[in-house]
Amino acid sequence: MSGECVKVSVRCRPLNSKEKADNRSTIVDVDSKTGTVTLTNPKGDEPPKTFTFDMAFDWNVTQREVYDVVARPIVMSVSNGFNGTIFAYGQTGTGKTHTMEGAPTPELQGIIPNCFDHIFEIVNSSPPNKQWMVRAAYLEIYNEEVRDLLSKDPKNKLELKENKDSGVYVKGLNAFVVKSVPELKNVLEVGRGNRSVGATLMNQDSSRSHSIFTVTIETIETTKAQPEGHIRVGKLNLVDLAGSERQSKTGATGDRLKEATKINLSLSALGNVISALVEGKGGHVPYRDSKLTRLLQDSLGGNTKTTMCANMGPADWNYDETLSTLRYANRAKNI
Ligand code: ADP
Ligand code: MG
Repeated sequence: MSGECVKVSVRCRPLNSKEKADNRSTIVDVDSKTGTVTLTNPKGDEPPKTFTFDMAFDWNVTQREVYDVVARPIVMSVSNGFNGTIFAYGQTGTGKTHTMEGAPTPELQGIIPNCFDHIFEIVNSSPPNKQWMVRAAYLEIYNEEVRDLLSKDPKNKLELKENKDSGVYVKGLNAFVVKSVPELKNVLEVGRGNRSVGATLMNQDSSRSHSIFTVTIETIETTKAQPEGHIRVGKLNLVDLAGSERQSKTGATGDRLKEATKINLSLSALGNVISALVEGKGGHVPYRDSKLTRLLQDSLGGNTKTTMCANMGPADWNYDETLSTLRYANRAKNI
C-alpha cells in the first residue's frame, strides 16, 4: 500500500456561544492555502507549534467544500469498485457529527447525506449498460462490542467472523437495499434512533461509541466483450469515532473508566494501523488489535482510499486536547 491512499485533513470549528460569553481566546490559527495549523500555548511558556496536513479547514469552510475535498474522490472510487473509509476524529464537541451528518438542510448537511446525493447522481446518470445495487448497513462499536443499529434488537452483541471469500464480516448484520436518497436517509434516521434509545436505556452516550455507516455499491456492466456482465463491488465506510478526550479530564471512574480505556485502546489501535499503512514498506499492520480496525481491515490499506478528518475547537481551554488531536493526525499523515 502506498501512503498516497491515506489523506489527513483537520477542521477547526468556530468559537461557540459559551466560549464567546466566557471571553475565551482563539489559540488555533489555520492557513488553508498551505494546510498549516499553528497552535499557541495560552500559558505562553513555549513557542507556537506548527503542523501541516493535506488540508486544513478553518471555521469559515462550508459543508460542501469539506465534502468536495474529503469525500468526493472516495465516493468516485467506491462507485468504481474500490473500498474507501472516511473517519471523523476529535474531542467530544469539536464537530465530528457536524462534519459527518450535519443538519438537515442542503447547505448544512454533512458528508454522509452529501455522499447519498452524490451516489444517486452517479447511479441516475449512468449509461443503460450498467446496473446498480446500493445497500446500507449501520453499526456501532461500544465497549469493544458490535451492535446492529438497524436491528429490531439493537442491544444484541454481534460477532466478527472471518472467511476466505468475504474476509472479516459481522455475523447477522442487516444490510438494506436502497433505491433512492430518501431511502438512504431513512436508514440513517432509523439507525440514529437506535443509538439514542440505547443511550438513555444503558446510560451511555454516543460520544463513547464508534458508529460506522456502510454503503456498498455494486455494479454490473455489460459490454460487447463481456455480454454476461462484469461485476464490481465497492464499500464506503463513514465513521464517526468516539470522542478522543483523555479521561483524566472527564473524571471517569469504575465502568466509565473501563469504557474509556477501551475507547482509547481502539483509537490508538487505529492510529497504529494508519501509521503502519502510511509508512508502507510492507511491514506488519496491527489490524487485530481492536474491533474497529479488524472490522475495517479490507477498507484500510490495499487498494483503498482512507481519509481522516480531525476536528478541533479554537479556544484556549482545550489546548491539551487540541495538541493531542494535532499529534494524532500528524502521525497518520504521509511524510
Ligand atoms: P462531536 O460530534 O465532535 O461531539 P458535534 O458535531 O456534535 O461534536 O458539535 C458540537 C456542536 O458544535 C454542535 O452544536 C455543532 O452544531 C457545533 N459545530 C460543530 N462544528 C461546527 C462548525 N464547523 N460550524 C458551526 N457549528 C459547528
Ligand atoms: Mg458526535
